[in-house]
Amino acid sequence: MKTVEILEKLIAFETVSADSNMALINFVSDLLRDAGVEVQIIPDRTGAKANLYATIGPTDDGGVMLSGHSDVVPVAGQNWTKPAFELTHENGRYFGRGTTDMKGFLASSLAMALRAAKLDLKTPLHLAISYDEEIGCIGVRSLIDMLDAAPIRPRFCIVGEPTSMGVATGHKGKLAARATCRGLEAHSALAPTGLNAIHLAAEFIGALRDIQADLAENGNQDEDYDVSYTTIHAGKISGGVALNIVPNQCTIDFEIRNLACDDAPAILDQIQNAANVIVADTDHPSAGIEIEVFNTYPGLDTPQCSAVVDFVKSLTGANGTMKVAFGTEAGLFDQRLGVPCVVCGPGSMALGHKPDEFIEADQLRACDAALDALLARLVIGI
Ligand SMILES: [Zn+2]
Repeated sequence: MKTVEILEKLIAFETVSADSNMALINFVSDLLRDAGVEVQIIPDRTGAKANLYATIGPTDDGGVMLSGHSDVVPVAGQNWTKPAFELTHENGRYFGRGTTDMKGFLASSLAMALRAAKLDLKTPLHLAISYDEEIGCIGVRSLIDMLDAAPIRPRFCIVGEPTSMGVATGHKGKLAARATCRGLEAHSALAPTGLNAIHLAAEFIGALRDIQADLAENGNQDEDYDVSYTTIHAGKISGGVALNIVPNQCTIDFEIRNLACDDAPAILDQIQNAANVIVADTDHPSAGIEIEVFNTYPGLDTPQCSAVVDFVKSLTGANGTMKVAFGTEAGLFDQRLGVPCVVCGPGSMALGHKPDEFIEADQLRACDAALDALLARLVIGI
């Protein structure tokens, strides 16, 4: 099968993160097994979702891993003029949810894997397809555990998130957390007899902004990013029941998007200390601010001079490198397994997560060409 034929199949699987990806995984698994490829499926606890890992070629060498996620973001509430889960070809563009992020790369990788299965590779090719990437790189962690226990690790990894085929060496890490501010309810006519949790939350947000200002002013800077420093942002707030009740609880969801050289847990400690000061200043026994981290993944900062960067540049013909604003699974592969990673894939993330998401046919062709160059190298050995 060719890239576009495979893409058409992949787009038709409605693999929104909240739903099962098993139909897609079974399709890919059948496709590879029919070509004689050995496939491992790593299911989650419910059996509704799974990662897939496949190796073509020798099993006693590290080889090159192509990595991508099977899940897509929802289409609910978006104004699509094309069918979201049906590939539409129009004026050199392929429309559909996931065309850019990132089933285009998966399709190109699978088409190349089918070609690879007919050849005698000196260096192995690995395919890693994950689930639940879009909700914080959750699913890939069990695949990483499996690789961690394996005797040999991939020598290089290409995470095919959309970079318009540029070679990206870095992205920021993320820590997502919830602060629960606790006060004491009272009749609003007697407001000072209670402790207003929304007011505590306002002070907490003030502390987040002070720490952000300090990071922007005095923290590490990396000019390769659109925003050159570590950022903190409060994205959701919820508290209060009625205007005439002093609220006893308010929650704030916030995140840290850190440069790989900044330590997100250390910044979180700073935030917790600021919260403790706010609570102590109330001098009220009901006061509290508890912080719970619900997701975290590391940043990526692959050195420009590393072998994986030279190798992937030689496949794509890229001269320079770039860094991307969005997070990927590459940080986890690098941190947990020590596998050198770059992010390089077809399409532009500016088109991802939007209605009428599409990928240019030229981008798919460029990816096919780069993966053909990879295949040629795997045949002679790297
Ligand atoms: Zn993605």
